[in-house]
Parts: sequence; C-alpha cells; structure tokens
Amino acid sequence: MEMGPVWPVCPCCEQMFVQVYCFKDSGEPFLLCSECDAFWWPDDVVGEDTARLLDDVVAARLGVASDGVWADRTWSDVLELQG
Ligand SMILES: [Zn+2]
Repeated sequence: MEMGPVWPVCPCCEQMFVQVYCFKDSGEPFLLCSECDAFWWPDDVVGEDTARLLDDVVAARLGVASDGVWADRTWSDVLELQG
C-alpha cells in the first residue's frame, strides 16, 4: 500500500501534527503547526530549534511589522491547507 508522507507531531507544542500548507499568492508550500504557528520551509529539518514563526515569515513577505500581519487579513486570505 502506498503511503503519503507522514508528518511528525509538532516538536514545539506536541499538540498537533505538522501539516502542509501553501501560500495562496505564490503556491509555495511550507509546513505549519496550526496550534502554535510554528513554521518550516520544505527544506528545513522539522525541529524545535529550526522552527520559524508564521507571523515573522508572513510579515517579511508582505513587508509589514510582524505585529501588524493580521490587522486586515486572516489566515485564509494568505494560506491554505494543501492536499
Ligand atoms: Zn505546534
């Protein structure tokens, strides 16, 4: 039986499985824990040490301060669950 990729439980919060999302504008995939917003690019090794923060990544992409990322948008404007 063919198995899809099995993503680990988030190493940061241990509450959720890390899932594949993509940015709506570019289609770029990434890994995200929706519980604690831990973010990894596909090339990152998923680990507590390597986790980025979704807000920081999105802020950098949009050129806004990280505390203003969600001021006038929601997750579903920016990213979507893939697959
Ligand atoms: Zn987490």
